[in-house]
Amino acid sequence: MGPIAMIVDEVRRHNRDGILEIKEAHERGTPIIGTYCGYMPWEIIDAAGAIAVSLCAKSEEAIPAAEEHLPRNLCPLVKSSYGHALRGTCPYFHFCDLIVAETTCDGKKKMYELMDRIKPVHLVQIPQRPDRPEDFALMKSEFNRVRQRLEDLTGRAITDEALGTSMALRNRERRSLRILWELSRRKNPPLTGCEIQEITDYIQFRFDKEKAIAWLEATTEALSQATPERDLSARPRILVTGCPIGGVMKTLEVLEETGALVVCFENCSGQKESLRPVEEGVDVMDALAEKYLAIGCSVMSPNPHRMEGLKRLIGEYDVDGVVEIVLTACHTYAVEGYSVRELVHSLGKSYLSIETDYSSGDREQLATRMGAFVEMF
Ligand code: SF4
Ligand code: SF4
Repeated sequence: MGPIAMIVDEVRRHNRDGILEIKEAHERGTPIIGTYCGYMPWEIIDAAGAIAVSLCAKSEEAIPAAEEHLPRNLCPLVKSSYGHALRGTCPYFHFCDLIVAETTCDGKKKMYELMDRIKPVHLVQIPQRPDRPEDFALMKSEFNRVRQRLEDLTGRAITDEALGTSMALRNRERRSLRILWELSRRKNPPLTGCEIQEITDYIQFRFDKEKAIAWLEATTEALSQATPERDLSARPRILVTGCPIGGVMKTLEVLEETGALVVCFENCSGQKESLRPVEEGVDVMDALAEKYLAIGCSVMSPNPHRMEGLKRLIGEYDVDGVVEIVLTACHTYAVEGYSVRELVHSLGKSYLSIETDYSSGDREQLATRMGAFVEMF
């Protein structure tokens, strides 16, 4: 087995270990905090001595239960998250002491009102704009409320010093991930997009961050030094953007089966949250508010940071085309797709928008549309 196959095999064998880590931490009395969004300040949770778990649900099985309470024409991510909470089928959700959620899209924020009946939800009011002093002030005061809520939960103060330490740690994690992702800037990258996603996902669910960073750095170094096991250099290079794709990995599999190579993920399953680190050495709460407010999610209006990030990544990763994944009933990403298409075309690149949900019924249709797109290169 070559080094790439060994790494992917290791990730697959251990991808359920995170549940054990959380169970043991829970039994030791460590508070477990569930989150659903890139806007959530993990640094505050870490500094409280708690563990942050990303709960964004990825499976279709939980949706029918959710539809007993929620409308059917709602984003599958929202329905799946709620369905798991309702049925108690997500082990991570089971161990959570508190959910720190956010007012991003309408479906999510209204769903959280119902989720609060199952498990306590602390709702963070996210500003709708990223660019005015009052937006910054709101973000900062909301993050201070999170800090207070976690202090109340744990019974101990969150110091600026602890926040500074967790900011430095999370920045190191972001930097390590970026170095891994940057291997795909090579003409013949060592990893496919599917493999990158598996490794990224694995890191997200390793909760001892020092160990996770050490593993990631060693893995990236091994990949960087390894003799290429295959030649991917002739494949069209694709950037994936749009909604989180954890629940629709089929899109990625089909895209690469048709002969493309995904070299960059701009969405929340990839670089969106990591594009900008938290500034260190300044006021900690200012730095957190500034960093998170700059995340280019389509719930912001206007949303200049997404367009800046896309432009930068399309250049840096020498992308041939952009595929936007829109989950059914996600209005903000669907509407913003028009502006993304304009931007991509203005850079002389090709653009394809795919709307899909968590079912597998459209795999053939996806193959036809993506296959036609990939043939253009
Ligand atoms: S796409 Fe937007 S709303 Fe969804 S997880 Fe990312 S930042 Fe949050
Ligand atoms: S994909 Fe769109 S609709 Fe679904 S939770 Fe994210 S922003 Fe909301």
